[in-house]
Amino acid sequence: MQRTPPKLTFAERLYLPQVIGGIAVTTRHFARNLLLHVLHVFGFARDRRAAVTVQYPEERKVYPEGYRGAHRLTIKPDGSVRCTACFLCATACPAKCIHIEAGEHPDPDTEKYPVRYEIDTLQCIYCGMCVEACPCDAIRMDTFVHPRIWGYRREDFIETKQVLMERSRVVQERGRDALMEDLLAAYRDAEAKA
Ligand code: SF4
Ligand code: SF4
Repeated sequence: MQRTPPKLTFAERLYLPQVIGGIAVTTRHFARNLLLHVLHVFGFARDRRAAVTVQYPEERKVYPEGYRGAHRLTIKPDGSVRCTACFLCATACPAKCIHIEAGEHPDPDTEKYPVRYEIDTLQCIYCGMCVEACPCDAIRMDTFVHPRIWGYRREDFIETKQVLMERSRVVQERGRDALMEDLLAAYRDAEAKA
């Protein structure tokens, strides 16, 4: 049997109590945080935590170990791409945002390599299925950086093979934190040019 929803009272239909309640909660938090921040400046109540906003991109949070960051294509010791253009990642991708063009590899022991390997980050949902599907550890999401988040054209958000491989080189040569430092430097450059 279908239940009839309870009828709203006149006061509830005005929504005023809810609006006033919401404003009261916001004001209470604002006053509390303002007071605590002022007290902290003068060295008081240091044990009472006040809410803070991370001043991104100048500041950043430490991501958890399980964080799935921007992709990278792993490279062989000789610096070439590890990917064999088998298309398993593109097939597994639920967002259909991996675009690969395969070519004959000059080395007879390796059948194919990706002439073009692109990820459309505007479509990617960061599910990690591509990483799971890859049989040769050629793609990873252990970069601890998010992809580019500014741009005016769709092409700005398409990560090419060169970009994806460069991330692996940076990780190998300068460590994981260097990727974020480069990203923040790029933000600052973009801001300076704007
Ligand atoms: S993380 Fe998911 S959506 Fe993004 S490229 Fe990989 S499989 Fe596709
Ligand atoms: S990244 Fe892995 S799964 Fe995707 S095409 Fe290359 S080798 Fe295949």
